[in-house]
Amino acid sequence: MLATELAARCLQLDVDSPGRKGSTARIVGWSLAALVSILLVVIYGVPLAAEQLAPLVPQSFENRIGQVADKQVRLVFDGKACEAKDGQAAFVKLVGTLRDAAGLPGPVDATVLSNEVANAFALPGGKIYLFNGLLQKAHNSDEIAGVLAHEMGHVVHRDNMRNLIYNGGTSFLVGLLFGDVTGSSAILFATRTMFDTTYTRTAETNADAFSIELMHKLGRSPKPMGELLLRVTGNEKDKNFSFLSNHPFTEDRLALMQKEDRPPTSRPILSDEEWMALRSICKK
Ligand SMILES: [Zn+2]
Repeated sequence: MLATELAARCLQLDVDSPGRKGSTARIVGWSLAALVSILLVVIYGVPLAAEQLAPLVPQSFENRIGQVADKQVRLVFDGKACEAKDGQAAFVKLVGTLRDAAGLPGPVDATVLSNEVANAFALPGGKIYLFNGLLQKAHNSDEIAGVLAHEMGHVVHRDNMRNLIYNGGTSFLVGLLFGDVTGSSAILFATRTMFDTTYTRTAETNADAFSIELMHKLGRSPKPMGELLLRVTGNEKDKNFSFLSNHPFTEDRLALMQKEDRPPTSRPILSDEEWMALRSICKK
């Protein structure tokens, strides 16, 4: 996507340069050289910068970004917050239990959105979104607990902040080269950054590890989360897009969670009634 964007702009640059005789080849050459060096910085420089900068961003700034992003999420995903009374009470209990066990430093602001896509993600500032689509695919509260714990892992590790810097940095560099900081690169920034929940393989593995540890701490098995994931994605190794994906395979994630399966030493966080109420949180 970025390469296409860059290529399109190089083309424009070339077209917009009439009257310089014999300079087309030079301009093309310059464009290519610039393209290559920009790509090198983007590929190697920005991830390094993002890695170093993310922990330095003040929490207050991160929270403000989260507030802005929250409005965008509700717009883009056309999702209303689900707040049926009993369901909300169950959700608050589930999130609160996980947060306390994890000993999170900052606040967690979790919401169920009415969207029917099977997804969940976290934004800067400790905002976690669970889509009703995923809730409806779940068979028990342990599955959803594991997912929420995974998202808390992303919050604690500040993976979304790292993404923001990475994607923001990328469009900033593109803007520098093409003198376009407010135009399309800003749009590129907005669309890619806010909802880019594609973390690196390492970030996903770390969030899974966080979830596994948290479920163990609560006396519950992490295995149900892996089963839910597989129910949603199907076998990923059968598909041929593996080389494009920077996510760990669902099968591998399930295998790890199965390995970490232990007999429960505590009751589920939610009772059966509370679980049923949570499943109906989007019903009026
Ligand atoms: Zn994740």
